[in-house]
Amino acid sequence: MADEQQTLLDECALARAASDPEARIEQLRREIEHHSYLYYAKDAPEISDGAFDSLMRELRELEDAHPDLVDPSSPTQRVGGYVGEQFAPVRHERRMYSLDNAMDLGELDAWLDRVKEAFGHMVPVVCELKIDGSSIALTYEDGRLVRAATRGDGTTGEDVTANMRTVRDVPLRLREGALAQLADAAAPVELRGEVYMPKVSFAMLNEAAEANGRAAFANPRNAAAGSLRQKDPAVTARRDLSTFLYAVADERALRASGQWELLQWLREAGFHVNPDVELCETEEAVHAFCARALERREDLPYEIDGVVVKVSSFVQQEAMGYTARAPRWAIAFKFPPEEKTTILRDITVQVGRTGVLTPVAELDPVVVAGSTVARATLHNEDEVHRKDVRVGDTVIVRKAGDVIPEVLGPVLALRPEGAPVWHMPERCPSCDSPVIREEGEVAYRCISIDCPAQALERLLHWASRGALDIDGMGEEIVARLVESGRLADVADYYTLDEVELSLLDMGRVNKDGEPIRLGQTVAKKLVAAIEASRTRTFARALFGLGIRHVGKTTAELLAAAYPSIGLLAAASEEDLAAIEGIGPKIAHSVYLFLRTPDNAAVIERLRARGVRLEDDAAEPAEQLPQTLAGLTFVLTGSLVESGMTRDEAGAALKARGAKVSGSVSKKTSFVVAGEAAGSKYDKAVSLGISVLDEAALLHILETGEAPAVQETPVG
Ligand code: AMP
Repeated sequence: MADEQQTLLDECALARAASDPEARIEQLRREIEHHSYLYYAKDAPEISDGAFDSLMRELRELEDAHPDLVDPSSPTQRVGGYVGEQFAPVRHERRMYSLDNAMDLGELDAWLDRVKEAFGHMVPVVCELKIDGSSIALTYEDGRLVRAATRGDGTTGEDVTANMRTVRDVPLRLREGALAQLADAAAPVELRGEVYMPKVSFAMLNEAAEANGRAAFANPRNAAAGSLRQKDPAVTARRDLSTFLYAVADERALRASGQWELLQWLREAGFHVNPDVELCETEEAVHAFCARALERREDLPYEIDGVVVKVSSFVQQEAMGYTARAPRWAIAFKFPPEEKTTILRDITVQVGRTGVLTPVAELDPVVVAGSTVARATLHNEDEVHRKDVRVGDTVIVRKAGDVIPEVLGPVLALRPEGAPVWHMPERCPSCDSPVIREEGEVAYRCISIDCPAQALERLLHWASRGALDIDGMGEEIVARLVESGRLADVADYYTLDEVELSLLDMGRVNKDGEPIRLGQTVAKKLVAAIEASRTRTFARALFGLGIRHVGKTTAELLAAAYPSIGLLAAASEEDLAAIEGIGPKIAHSVYLFLRTPDNAAVIERLRARGVRLEDDAAEPAEQLPQTLAGLTFVLTGSLVESGMTRDEAGAALKARGAKVSGSVSKKTSFVVAGEAAGSKYDKAVSLGISVLDEAALLHILETGEAPAVQETPVG
């Protein structure tokens, strides 16, 4: 019954769309904006992600079918086109000021005294967290986002509109109720705030950068600024940026009397406004807010470097005015720095699973922001030289993103005489083969396949939580198994047995001088964990193989498009690059990996030893006759009858040997047109390519029979 009702509803929707696509598009955009607002600004979604995606899909398909109705403010346009080499300069309507700093409570009190002096008494002030990101100015005209600019020098910034459009919590249109409060809804209004990268995303971005031999960002602020200045907005879109808005360029644009009311309005307009704000009437309340912020600093998911205190009333702000660089009516109370000095004892080199050599600072242990730091990555040789750190130096250490220890630089006055400049060794510290540096890369790499350090890292990666999750298989055990010759590649895990594991010599002796062995209890648990790892999802196994550039998300995209190792290995480089979210670099890396004989042999052994390398739904390619070989299909519209996604239908066609392409060309054999098929259908007709409906597709998939090519008259 419920299904029937749903079908009826869908039919109604389609009928409505057919009769008045423009109205339906507008209705969908409003609905999607409303749910984005609930999700991003309110943190209180009312519909499931699946339902949201389905609204988006309908909108995208309608817009595909009616390109004239596409609008840059549509939620489908979050990933815009390429921007030019340079970002165009943007003059700010009003200067983007910096803030004066109060470095301690004494300086904060001195500022509060100045406020009292100006008005003869304390006036209401708003306390906000000082977000450690990058300033951004968003201009809306007629309620629509028309421009986003960085602060630049305060007077002129850079136009980063295409990139900011991809940031999910930035409304592309202001909410209607809020428009009514603008002095002139049609006039441009410039709203300002901070764009930032959450700590976790920062850590993950740097991890990935290091694994791929790219330079890491020093802190989340640089990461946010760098992500904003990408030439390709699709890269920005993947970077997980967020915003907090807190200002308007010209307060006359708004019917609000002060900062406090402005924050409420920004919230109503659909922006993400930091919830940790307080209207304080007394100095004690300001102190308490600062103390609380400092206490909570570590627990927040984003970096803050202080508290901003602002006189709330716009009239009173105007009365206090500005200095040449900052408003007098606001102050940034900066947190005491979480920096310490210690001695750099050594710079060692770590070899990662992809062979990247990473210099690591070995430090005299020191407590920074609540935890002991004894090692810190120095990322790469360029970074060591840029910071000019040398063994023996007294260095300044801090925690980037409050989590990752970072060496900021040396205290030069304390440098021991004759301390030499550090260089990357010419040979791999693990296997002694020469290291290379590829053009355009900052990283040095060991490319030997026999490198034990890489093997160890690859083995650990396979067993790690996000991959095959072999619980208990830690570094010490794996290293002992490698040394004893029992583990050479990941397929060897599946030959280990309980007795052999329990006898594993751990390389240490007990008080009686007898070798310590792993023991039965641990061995039993490990064998069970190995067993359980055989049946993880295909995406996790794919991630576990440690293919260069293939992180967790990429593995998931690949597995969704090609749900078994057989299908994936049969895909061409072009096929792989056609998957949404997979670029040519990843496609090349996957293609190469699967065609390298050593890797293919490991995969074969994994399969032979019962490790699942496909998802349940996947039919291994070799079991199906390749009746569709040589044919190229293009899918358009939605497959309502079967409820299959286009990716699923594509995978099923590929399993029978067909090629599936994203665009129609003369080489296309068939276009499969589902409901609400878009421009691809029109193109197929104009090129005279046979068009199949969903029923025909289902027939092919059931029987495997290749359809006859019919010449459609070109018209
Ligand atoms: P600074 O760059 O240290 O001079 O600090 C000024 C910068 O702090 C401003 O340009 C803003 O980008 C940033 N900031 C972060 N959070 C806030 C906030 N809540 N209010 C005002 N400015 C903020």
